[in-house]
Amino acid sequence: MGVALKKIVALALFCLLVAGCSQAAEPGNLDATKPLSQEQEEVVGNAEDDPEVTDDANPRPKVDFSSKAADPESCKIMENSNIYPAGTPVFDYTGRDEIKGDYKGNPAAFPFRPTVLPTSGELLVILLKSEWADLPGTDDDSEYYERNARTLEDFWSMATEGKLKVTVEIVDRWFTLAGSYLDFQLTPEDEAQRADTRPKKQALWDAIVDASDELVDFTKVDVVLPAFPRSATVSREGPHDFNFDWNAAMYTEEGAIYDIAAAGDGFINFGDVWFYYAHEMGHMLGIQHMGADYLGAIEAEYRAPWIVNGMAGFDVMGNQDGAIKTLSSWHRWLAGWLDDSQVRCLQSTQIEEEYFELFPINEIGAPLEALVINLDETMNVVVESRRWDARFDRNIVHSRDGIIVYTVDAMLGPAQSNMKLISPRDITKILDVQGKFHREELDGNLCQGDTVRIADLVIEATWVGDATDVVKVSRSDSWIDPRQDMLAKGEFNQISNGCVYGELEDLFYLEKVDPEWLDTKRGLRSSYWSEMGYIPLPESRASSGKENESDESSSQG
Ligand SMILES: [Zn+2]
Repeated sequence: MGVALKKIVALALFCLLVAGCSQAAEPGNLDATKPLSQEQEEVVGNAEDDPEVTDDANPRPKVDFSSKAADPESCKIMENSNIYPAGTPVFDYTGRDEIKGDYKGNPAAFPFRPTVLPTSGELLVILLKSEWADLPGTDDDSEYYERNARTLEDFWSMATEGKLKVTVEIVDRWFTLAGSYLDFQLTPEDEAQRADTRPKKQALWDAIVDASDELVDFTKVDVVLPAFPRSATVSREGPHDFNFDWNAAMYTEEGAIYDIAAAGDGFINFGDVWFYYAHEMGHMLGIQHMGADYLGAIEAEYRAPWIVNGMAGFDVMGNQDGAIKTLSSWHRWLAGWLDDSQVRCLQSTQIEEEYFELFPINEIGAPLEALVINLDETMNVVVESRRWDARFDRNIVHSRDGIIVYTVDAMLGPAQSNMKLISPRDITKILDVQGKFHREELDGNLCQGDTVRIADLVIEATWVGDATDVVKVSRSDSWIDPRQDMLAKGEFNQISNGCVYGELEDLFYLEKVDPEWLDTKRGLRSSYWSEMGYIPLPESRASSGKENESDESSSQG
């Protein structure tokens, strides 16, 4: 097919794509959007103890909000890590094809270091459905990827505060790749990012380009998401390449593409895949991987999540499997998605007794989305408001409505866990959350009335309302070292207080509100995740040995 014809075909495809996009109103996560019954509402246990209680019974406290503020620049602490020592110049790579070897990694503190991709304006993603004769794609698969594509668009609109419009085009056909899918199956080693070349991954990208290049005009495409039928294993984890770190690429007639992500069983087997795409696209755009993978085994992460992955469960860049899939305000501010006017910078020395009203970070363009309290040249305390969000978040028994407080350490670089949650309870104890293949999240949510202490500050969730939170920041007469590494206890938190719940309560909750998801989790196709340390679930409350504790422990305490 000649170039001209290709363009005509591309135009026809574009029309199809536009038609597809008109269905964008469909909510992304069908399970998560399922309305809760009143009984389920009770189990959720928000700070407002009784679902009958209205805002009238929990009125906003009459306080004067603080007008104190410091120069925003004084809160933009400069990274001084082993990846980016202080003073490392920033290069503008925007528009270049690839920057392998030039770009050292995503930043963990200021200044932001853009990759070749724009962080504002528009970004074009194309999802290529790729099948084989012996593994054909189905209409169900098509609907699945369509739904995930629309949620991915919504996620980026939310996370970038509307500043980056991500369009995911899906070519309305399956491309049939040559040969058998068995020839292309990837082991985790085949798909890994380190090493100069990954021949099997390259062969897969080549086969996709061979099958699609005649019909698809890649000229304006920034990111390619190859998508496979879900009825058999093509990949276990998900092969991906970044413009700054690639060992395979798509060499199309219109040029090479280095930003690629295909989801594997580790995501497909458990429901949706959009948050895998979101995490990898985050890196492509310049947002750091948060978990300190260098500290070693996944086992270590499970036992010591606060040290190894200090925001585990609260940021999609820390853990795609966490119940909450958003982007913390620190990342948003660093990337320029939050304006200085939406962040209140304060010097800790300014604090006496101050009240602030914070808007949940998932609200686009809210007037105030974060407090950034500067302690010294290399450390901040960030306070932000969160709400469980049916569009993106998984059902969870523990409250995720309220505020979170975390430190940001500019002496640590990307993938070194430079952000660490502070808990109103004991952050070194694990909160039992039924993730896809592990159960460890941090206990970081402040419900109404909860307080944390860090450095010489006391931070209180004075009021958690429907739409905003009131936060009090005051001075403590004692000092808590914000850089201390507490010894992780690796035990489950057993507190059940209407805000958080003890071990296994999240499982029992899911049995009520989302049994389908649990069935999926129990029916693992790949033994790989068992090898990786996945712990089989008790079949039910009755077989867990906790049947005598009854529902009381998971209702309002
Ligand atoms: Zn990552």
